[in-house]
Amino acid sequence: MKYFGAHVSAAGGVSNAPRNAHEIGATGFALFTKNQRQWVAKPLPQSEIAAFRETCRQLGYAPRQILPHDSYLINLGHPDPEALEKSRAAFLDEMQRCEQLGLDRLNFHPGSHLDRSSAQATMDRIAESINWALDRTQGVTAVIENTAGQGSNLGSSFEQLAYIIDRVDDKSRVGVCIDTCHAFAAGYDLRTAGACDRTFDELERTVGFRYLRGMHLNDAMKPLASRIDRHAPLGEGMIGMECFRYIARDRRFDGIPLIMETPDEDRWAEEIALLKAMAGE
Ligand SMILES: [Zn+2]
Ligand SMILES: [Zn+2]
Repeated sequence: MKYFGAHVSAAGGVSNAPRNAHEIGATGFALFTKNQRQWVAKPLPQSEIAAFRETCRQLGYAPRQILPHDSYLINLGHPDPEALEKSRAAFLDEMQRCEQLGLDRLNFHPGSHLDRSSAQATMDRIAESINWALDRTQGVTAVIENTAGQGSNLGSSFEQLAYIIDRVDDKSRVGVCIDTCHAFAAGYDLRTAGACDRTFDELERTVGFRYLRGMHLNDAMKPLASRIDRHAPLGEGMIGMECFRYIARDRRFDGIPLIMETPDEDRWAEEIALLKAMAGE
């Protein structure tokens, strides 16, 4: 079974996210559990937690179908100790919100060296941050997203994802989310079935599909290896529909959230229907 969905709005309360997902025919969804552009958020009210759990139950969304995303402000590899501490505290709060909502994974971008630290030292700090947060939580997997490699962002190569995973103590609670647009921008070709074979074989060799906890299905506005993160609707960018047909049909992507973060929300229902048809579901 494939869980296709989109990163839906949680405006007005997290319990609106499963409702918004249901409306577009999604069998999975992503959400922010707080405002993604602010450091601090009020704790989730008990009533909202209960409403989220009940709505997910009624609409048939299990934790494995849901991929919450953390705030864009967090940098778990920050070279400055005070800023690192702030990021870690915010990340822990995000993990705890997932615990409260009964969610089992949290998707985040690994971090940036900001030209003030080596890539290796930064990745070591990112792994330490993950270990620190996992020690203080239960049942939530830290899901590292690959990046386009824009600026000083780390995690654009599968080797870097593997490097971080290697240094996480509890391997049962670390995973990856592969964003097709980011992978393409980082130089992994996905334009044909053959290119997808080669890219995903490389993912298996370096990271391993056993760590795959979600996918972001986005086409790319910019060409291969541009290192620029600009999402396009499926089939309308430089990757093309063949890649999404490949993923829809490949059993290695079963049982995890497959989430669109494409720009035109009005087309999500249609895109989900197309993905389901390609998967034969
Ligand atoms: Zn992301
Ligand atoms: Zn993404």
